[in-house]
Amino acid sequence: MSDVINETHDPRLKSGVPCNLADSWSFPVQNLPFGRFTTRQHLSPRLGVAIGDFVLDLKEAVLRGLFERRVASLISSCSDGWLNSLMSQDVSLIRELRLALSIMLRGDVVNDRVASCLVKRTEATLHKPVDIRNFSDFFTSIHHAQNSGKLKRPDNPLLPNFHTLPVAYHGRASTVCVDGTPVRRPCGQFLLPGKVHPTFGPTRALDLECELASYVGSGNMLGQPIRLAEAEQRLFGFSILNDWSARDIQNWESTPLGPFLAKSFQSTVSPWVVTLEALAPFRVAPASRTPDAPRMLTYLHDTNDRARGGLDIQFEVSILSDLMKNKKLAPHPIAKPKFRDQYWTVFQMLAHQTSNGCTVIPGDLLGSGTVSGSTEAELGCLLEMTRGGTLPVSLPTGEQRTYLQDGDELSITAGCHKEGFVSIGFGNCRGSIKPAVH
Ligand code: CA
Repeated sequence: MSDVINETHDPRLKSGVPCNLADSWSFPVQNLPFGRFTTRQHLSPRLGVAIGDFVLDLKEAVLRGLFERRVASLISSCSDGWLNSLMSQDVSLIRELRLALSIMLRGDVVNDRVASCLVKRTEATLHKPVDIRNFSDFFTSIHHAQNSGKLKRPDNPLLPNFHTLPVAYHGRASTVCVDGTPVRRPCGQFLLPGKVHPTFGPTRALDLECELASYVGSGNMLGQPIRLAEAEQRLFGFSILNDWSARDIQNWESTPLGPFLAKSFQSTVSPWVVTLEALAPFRVAPASRTPDAPRMLTYLHDTNDRARGGLDIQFEVSILSDLMKNKKLAPHPIAKPKFRDQYWTVFQMLAHQTSNGCTVIPGDLLGSGTVSGSTEAELGCLLEMTRGGTLPVSLPTGEQRTYLQDGDELSITAGCHKEGFVSIGFGNCRGSIKPAVH
């Protein structure tokens, strides 16, 4: 099972690969996340694994005979440079690859053959790791549901279906971009205060949504649901996701069918995919159901999921305004949501998505929905932090924000920490807001 702790998680393992960059703590030998990169020498994207300050070039490692035959042919099957082919493989093969990487990269000294396959991360350009064909976005935080619901229905913030299923809508895969891609302020229809007829123009309420991206591994056949008990075998790994949202456009367009243009203009993912196996030490029980919640329907209930279906991932959301940049200030943290507070698990999301027989394919993206906790410091979007744009957030320069302004850079980082284990991180998910084109 994916939650079994094995020798690849051993906290005593160290790698001789240098680890001096500020974010290199994220990529110890216990993590081994997959990504896709180019260099000045190699202009076609290649698959790589983050380790300390470096990326291990998987193609080069195969060419130099660093893997035994089964693992080598597994990597060679991904010749198009996307992670999808790797994701589609059987879990046991992926585990074999992880073990081989762990053995190759552990130890005080990096041997010459391995060293010749390492590329400095500062010299690599990271690309979107997965060719994402389908993107569903869920709504799995009870705190986010309550806080956003309260703005519309103060006396009845939670709708009854929240307790019975992980609510979701179909998102837009074509606009999922990688960390660092600029975010163009979208235009759309929205109602100005006191008006009856909408205006078309640049959104005045551009928001972030701090989320976890789950990537489907091997998918299912049409008409054959993935049962909750087998969902673990069908999720490959995770990235950070920022589901940028235009709240004013969303408010006007969402009734009765749900969000459309308010969300589809862009979403950003972090470039490394942390595997489910790497997260084994950080598995926890999911958030408790509320006492008034009805009994969970059988297809969404599984004893192992209730015991270990949660993931203890700590996010940090920071903002850096133009003025802060000019004053050479560091990004200012505005929230630290925890994924362990989510009401529904990533496995329940996958089981629910396929429960009607819908097909998912390798690399499909399931967004968790905004990750929010019960405290003021754990709110995963500005809509919640500012109570619908009425209570501004203060920045160190004295500037205030209800929603994002042009020039703001928003970043989301994430990591897992547990006593007795080595911490692992997800990297960064950034976007700078550019003025609208209109
Ligand atoms: Ca969302």
